[in-house]
Amino acid sequence: IHKMAKSSFEYVKKFELDDTLLPNSWIVVRLDGKCFHKFSEEHNFAKPNDIRALKLMNYAAFTVLREFNDLLMAFGQSDEYSFIFKKSTTLYKRRAAKLLTTINSKFSTSYVFYWKKFFEEEPLKYPPTFDGRVVLYPNDENLIDYMKWRQADVHINNLYNTTFWTLVLKGNLSPSQAEKRLCGTVSADKNEILFKEFLINYNNEPEIFKRGTLLMRKSIFHNNLDKHSNVIVDTHDDMLKDRFWKEHSSLLLNKPKESMMYVGPITDI
Ligand code: ATP
Ligand code: ATP
Ligand code: MG
Ligand code: MG
Ligand code: MG
Ligand code: MG
Repeated sequence: IHKMAKSSFEYVKKFELDDTLLPNSWIVVRLDGKCFHKFSEEHNFAKPNDIRALKLMNYAAFTVLREFNDLLMAFGQSDEYSFIFKKSTTLYKRRAAKLLTTINSKFSTSYVFYWKKFFEEEPLKYPPTFDGRVVLYPNDENLIDYMKWRQADVHINNLYNTTFWTLVLKGNLSPSQAEKRLCGTVSADKNEILFKEFLINYNNEPEIFKRGTLLMRKSIFHNNLDKHSNVIVDTHDDMLKDRFWKEHSSLLLNKPKESMMYVGPITDI
């Protein structure tokens, strides 16, 4: 293969800074939609939770996991997704910019490419933008706390948003009246407003709304075919419970399975 001759200009290459990430530590890439408050309004997202949008996010994340086998799992909620690499990955020699930009690019283009599959008649009006960052976590406890942090965020936001939009859509309050009504309330107050005034038991809200989506690699045994296949599954389990991390301890074992297909509710639409 043709190799470029060295030119007198090539010294500029040395201006590129080294961004190799620390070895043997958890690499987390988190993406977040830019101005999705506005984007969601302009594309008529159902409030507070548009299921089409969540499924599209999950599907875009699935295409990322399918492409990068060193990703162990991914967690998504609202307009954000976190991707977790196995600790020992040497993908792109652990160069931060390469990891971040290829993941963001695959995710963003998949979001656009598969828009119609989920939104059908609702046209995509302009290309969305996602920002991204890379964070390193040195031990399992930090990573687990990271996952718990993102899932706790879903709960806090969703309980607020569910109560807010119920007050607006069913209680006929204006947005600013609903905001005032919720000012200074704690979780129990919001649960009570939903239950006493609107007969809504927050516990019965869909798991995907309350907990977000965790995508992970799994090996599934097919009795009829007498063989295993490796798949990426979506779950909405409670990661705040230590039981979850005991049951899924293999998740952090650093041995990702090859993934070939996708199973889970996303394929059911
Ligand atoms: P930034 O550019 O700083 O991230 P943002 O407007 O995207 O600004 P976020 O804090 O990321 O702000 O919040 C994302 C917003 O997108 C939510 O508050 C909500 O209004 C909207 N949104 C995202 N996903 C959904 C969804 N599935 N259904 C309804 N609304 C959604
Ligand atoms: P990497 O992932 O390392 O970037 P690559 O295959 O993208 O690998 P590059 O050095 O970036 O390698 O080269 C891009 C290649 O894409 C070119 O060598 C050429 O084969 C092809 N290519 C890009 N643009 C065009 C174009 N406009 N017309 C024809 N071929 C193109
Ligand atoms: Mg942001
Ligand atoms: Mg955002
Ligand atoms: Mg966000
Ligand atoms: Mg190239």
